[in-house]
Amino acid sequence: MEDSITQAAHLIMDAGKILIFSGAGLSTESGIPDFRSPGGVWEKYDPSDFYFQKFVASEEAREKYWIMSTEFYATMRDAQPNRAHLAIKELEEMGKLLAIVTQNIDNLHHKAGNSPEKIIEIHGTAFSVYCLNCSKTYDRDEIQERLKAGLKVPYCDDCSGILKPSTISFGQSMPEFEMAESFRNAQECDLCIVLGSSLVVYPAASVPDHAKDSGAALMIINRDPTSLDTKADLVIHDSAGKVMGAILEHMGAL
Ligand code: NAD
Ligand code: ZN
Repeated sequence: MEDSITQAAHLIMDAGKILIFSGAGLSTESGIPDFRSPGGVWEKYDPSDFYFQKFVASEEAREKYWIMSTEFYATMRDAQPNRAHLAIKELEEMGKLLAIVTQNIDNLHHKAGNSPEKIIEIHGTAFSVYCLNCSKTYDRDEIQERLKAGLKVPYCDDCSGILKPSTISFGQSMPEFEMAESFRNAQECDLCIVLGSSLVVYPAASVPDHAKDSGAALMIINRDPTSLDTKADLVIHDSAGKVMGAILEHMGAL
């Protein structure tokens, strides 16, 4: 591990335009469970219940969705950025951060203090809700209050349309602008660091792949092996907070 930390520190010091690609594993140390690890969300809920088409088609599916979502949002709302989020903020302060492409919907890169224009949320955010019919948006806390007060499925105040958190569900198309921006940054970066992602959710996972193919160095910090490990310049299988903290300390000591 010692050697890897030194190598990682050098990769970062040599880089001028770093692209961070983050996934649910980045936020487990902030108390938000990921989907696929033991104790993760998919041990408690069945992913096939949460397809977009089901959500649109069935009141019962919407009710199930909001039960899961109400619980998950409460955890996210109270969560605080951990050492790894703060390390990314430090990279921005050093002038090395090109952008953050995040699969997370938990707002923690914003809470850590990174500039909003550097944060690309390719799976949306759990912190707002929108109407599928007229696109009116709602603050998530306002909807959360209605659910807490006993409402099972919220509908739009203006048009009675179906309300949904502003996140990308299975079966829903990816946001065009955010995807284009992600690939543009992948093309431009000179180092891509994957933090806490199993890299199994596509098309999101093709972003670090594209960065590597476009000539950037690729560093993967993830507790478990990923599908891009063999392609990466450096892989560290350990917790993101611990590793990022150690790398920045090492950089400070150099
Ligand atoms: P994933 O659940 O598929 O994989 C998480 C990966 O992180 C695993 O490979 C695991 O080994 C690793 N990991 C867990 N804790 C870690 C830690 N402390 N340090 C380093 N690695 C750690 O997550 P994914 O790849 O992001 O894809 C799942 C989808 O779930 C995404 O689309 C995302 O939108 C959504 N999601 C988001 C959140 C969130 O916003 N915090 C939480 C759960 C799921
Ligand atoms: Zn509406």
